[in-house]
Amino acid sequence: MRRIIGFIRSFTLIELLRGLWLTRGYLLSPKITVRYPEEKTPQSPRFRGLHALRRYPNGEERCIACKLCEAVCPACAITIESEERADGTRRTTRYDIDLFKCIYCGFCEEACPVDSIVETRIFEYHFEKRGDHIITKQQLLAIGDKYEAQLAADRAADAVYR
Ligand code: SF4
Ligand code: SF4
Repeated sequence: MRRIIGFIRSFTLIELLRGLWLTRGYLLSPKITVRYPEEKTPQSPRFRGLHALRRYPNGEERCIACKLCEAVCPACAITIESEERADGTRRTTRYDIDLFKCIYCGFCEEACPVDSIVETRIFEYHFEKRGDHIITKQQLLAIGDKYEAQLAADRAADAVYR
């Protein structure tokens, strides 16, 4: 009996018609896909993309080389070396992040007491040479300088949760 029903179903193309009917429904429904990269989906202020190091408005680096971010990083992606300056303050001499190791968990950002290391909304980046995946302090500061307005706005918008 089952074989007969199966034969009738395939002979009348009922499966095909049901599939086409389903397609017709999606054809007329609102689209849930976007045409990336021309179109982009909205981003949260807490988006965890490429890292940056921030400065204070007077240009001074925020980072005080406390190494909390290095200690909390579950992927051991951060490497910091530091020294004491002439004025007695401590600053990093080296701040590297291995982006191959990083899992973009945001723990470094959460741990930082001075909002220095942050994650930006940047997710479109690539590496062209061997070793480019190690992002240095100068590169991180340059990203922070470039996107400071957005970084400050995101932190102000989301202050309750930080
Ligand atoms: S986002 Fe997470 S894995 Fe990446 S550097 Fe920060 S703490 Fe480490
Ligand atoms: S980025 Fe923040 S947590 Fe990391 S060493 Fe600097 S001040 Fe400390």
